[in-house]
Amino acid sequence: ILGTANSSSTASTTVARAFCSSSTTPITATLFPGDGIGPEIAESVKKVFTTAGVPINWEEHYVSTEIDPRTQSFLTWESLESVRRNKVGLKGPMATPIGKGHRSLNLTLRKELNLYANVRPCYSLPGYKTRYDDVNLITIRENTEGEYSGLEHQVVRGVVESLKIITRQASLRVAEYAFHYAKTHGRERVSAIHKANIMQKTDGLFLKCCREVAEKYPEITYEEVVIDNCCMMLVKNPALFDVLVMPNLYGDIISDLCAGLVGGLGLTPSCNIGEDGVALAEAVHGSAPDIAGKNLANPTALLLSGVMMLRHLKMNEQAEQIHSAIINTIAEGKYRTADLGGSSTTTEFTKAICDHL
Ligand code: NAD
Repeated sequence: ILGTANSSSTASTTVARAFCSSSTTPITATLFPGDGIGPEIAESVKKVFTTAGVPINWEEHYVSTEIDPRTQSFLTWESLESVRRNKVGLKGPMATPIGKGHRSLNLTLRKELNLYANVRPCYSLPGYKTRYDDVNLITIRENTEGEYSGLEHQVVRGVVESLKIITRQASLRVAEYAFHYAKTHGRERVSAIHKANIMQKTDGLFLKCCREVAEKYPEITYEEVVIDNCCMMLVKNPALFDVLVMPNLYGDIISDLCAGLVGGLGLTPSCNIGEDGVALAEAVHGSAPDIAGKNLANPTALLLSGVMMLRHLKMNEQAEQIHSAIINTIAEGKYRTADLGGSSTTTEFTKAICDHL
């Protein structure tokens, strides 16, 4: 699902530099088990990876209970250094700490590690029935700016203002990643999702950058779809789409819509790509405090994120093996967690996947 980029792009140079490993050289990767159900599903990933014989050493880092002044967040400097050093990591869900004086955990990771693109494959799982059985698309979300720039203030009493920032540099970077992704993954079309009819300057610049990059990829069909129309088309016929690239906020919303098309957040993996060759894969869902500690969580999203990480590392054999074991376990239907309509515990479901390896 996640591949390398070509040597002409920013993304690819760094990716190529970072990973020249063969499938048997042990890799050291950072693991953030995270909060809530995070440690339970991280345990599941470790068990499946060990059973599959993946040569990987995990450097585990937990969210701290105190703010680290060097990061101004509950993520320690050491944990960020671990990802920078290893260039690859897997992240469980992190609960958003309540209170002021710290940066959001996900924002800290994105800013500190320069994670500029969030890649979410969304495909129908064979054997798990949803309304559609032919979804196979990728959303690529710009991860660093847009409405997430944190520039909000009160103008006068009763009036607030929030700024949306779009830059040429970030737009070109994510567009380049999307087109290169399409080219290297046998995809035929890239759709830029926008609202440039209203957001003429910001989304207008985003589209201009996408068009510029599209010219370098004549073999890939390029189209532009207004976001409201995109939502309707996705719900009516998701097979119309292939690779979608979009600014930050639209990506946040559309990627969850796409997750809903194939069975929900418990099944959806993602990977964040950084400029410095860093890849941080993560489950899309949150820490699920309502079921934490009860052995009820579905580990599929984190496992599939782990599979994306393995593909990024070119450990394709192990990636395929684990991917098939997950798909076959779910398709068989005997062991499924409650969110998929079954009654298996996390441990039983994990064991069933290991038995399918
Ligand atoms: P959530 O995704 O944690 O839970 C929503 C619902 O989905 C709950 O009913 C939960 O039980 C269920 N669910 C989620 N993942 C599941 C899984 N793997 N297996 C079975 N059921 C699952 O969303 P929320 O309740 O809005 O957020 C809880 C906390 O997580 C908050 O602190 C939020 O800020 C944080 N969060 C973190 C991330 C992240 O780290 N990327 C993403 C979203 C939310």
